[in-house]
Amino acid sequence: MKHDICSIPISEVFEPKDGCPVCRLRDILEKRMVEYITGAAMMEPDVRIETNKKGFCLHHYNRMLKQHKHLSVALTMQSRLEELDRQVFGNGLLAKDPARQGKSARQALSTCFVCDEVNTNLERMLQNTCHLWGRERDFRQLFAEQPELCLPHFAMLAEAAGKELGKKERAEFTKIASDICRRGLDALRADIDHFTRMYDYRSGKSANDWGTAKDSPERVVKFLTSRPPEKD
Ligand SMILES: [Zn+2]
Ligand SMILES: [Zn+2]
Repeated sequence: MKHDICSIPISEVFEPKDGCPVCRLRDILEKRMVEYITGAAMMEPDVRIETNKKGFCLHHYNRMLKQHKHLSVALTMQSRLEELDRQVFGNGLLAKDPARQGKSARQALSTCFVCDEVNTNLERMLQNTCHLWGRERDFRQLFAEQPELCLPHFAMLAEAAGKELGKKERAEFTKIASDICRRGLDALRADIDHFTRMYDYRSGKSANDWGTAKDSPERVVKFLTSRPPEKD
């Protein structure tokens, strides 16, 4: 079941040429995984053992609650809390060693099932992206036409290329990805400079002079973290 979640044709994800294609791929994987965890996964004991052990991060708890399947979420919480009680408080030895108990609590809270699944599958799909780029001329063209790559996803692509492609191809692939990412960085730097000048009374700028700079702080957050900032 978990494998069905990840069957996504890579070239379709690159087709829209709108923003970072790897963000789009991550969003698809994440959406499917959150739906799965509040749906079919409830009936899969192996998955429940993993979610009890790993739990979820704030971002993914929020996403799960937005599914409006509160009973499913509560059931995962019920067994997760039981597991945490055992991990953090259940062992008499831990109570005698407060430092170890604190470490155990911190470790128990540092994992997220959805993050791990999404990252593992994203890495695998980026390896496939490298192979596709290596063998299909049309996909090379499509890859080169991407308008943006955020910095975290440039890093993941470059790392995947380092593992999956031969020396010459790796250099060529990384150069193309790097050029796309760098173009975004240059544009953001220009917009952020413009943004700060709009607040400088000496610049003589008026409200009509914003150009593309108005939402540039939000776009920098997206470029650096692959996530848009939270709205009020
Ligand atoms: Zn991205
Ligand atoms: Zn997470």
